[in-house]
Amino acid sequence: MPLYMKNDSRDGDKAIAATEAEHNARIELAECYRILHMLGWTELIFNHVTLRVPGPERVFLINPFGLNYDEVTADNLVAVDIDGLPVRPGQAPINRAGFVTHSAIHRHVEGAHCVMHTHTTTGCAVSCLEEGLSHDSFYGAQLFGRVAYHDFEGVTVNMDEQARMVQSIGNSKAVILRNHGLLALGSGVQEAFMWLWLMQRACDIQIAAASAGRIRSLSTQVRQQTSDEAAGLEPALIDLVYASLRRKLGDLSKRGDTRSAS
Ligand SMILES: [Zn+2]
Repeated sequence: MPLYMKNDSRDGDKAIAATEAEHNARIELAECYRILHMLGWTELIFNHVTLRVPGPERVFLINPFGLNYDEVTADNLVAVDIDGLPVRPGQAPINRAGFVTHSAIHRHVEGAHCVMHTHTTTGCAVSCLEEGLSHDSFYGAQLFGRVAYHDFEGVTVNMDEQARMVQSIGNSKAVILRNHGLLALGSGVQEAFMWLWLMQRACDIQIAAASAGRIRSLSTQVRQQTSDEAAGLEPALIDLVYASLRRKLGDLSKRGDTRSAS
């Protein structure tokens, strides 16, 4: 199975012209790649964050295959349609496994405008555990009853896995790809980030605690109460968190520690 999606693009009257909405989405997504880079949630040239372009057609932006996250810019992101075709000529090739996973969600899960997938060490470690994510930490408890699991079927390059993946995800926005890694989705980069961050922190703490001793269990009632209290992932909170990351990124950029997002 090829690593790349076919790079034939839509052409002629099927090409989709760039819009201001796409321009803005490119800047937003490029910035998100820099934020994940800043946090160290990267895996060389692998993994993806994708963002829908507002408009009548299901078009989303994805990283060109072969670049590190800190090399992704607004200009080199690739706009593809839901069949994986770049929407206009002259764009870089994309990774097939990334397309298969992300297009399944963009196509079938209503409101999933942003999808993030990582292979962090603790995220992958928890994904390999028979019992999955522990709900016995501050972050894990907030995720009680909210995490979906999808069984590993190999590298996600077969389109027929899409239906099973969508079925596994259901209404959940926090997903553990078993024996593989973490995946989060949301109405925008802010919400997807927040779910991913909760999972990431829960995984970090679970692995650290398990290596240090016996984990003290929370009752189902307390887990549920905590999950209910956090249920909202209040939009205002999500925005505050993400804005703080944008400021941090801006500060680093000013100091020359990371490149500008656009
Ligand atoms: Zn993966």
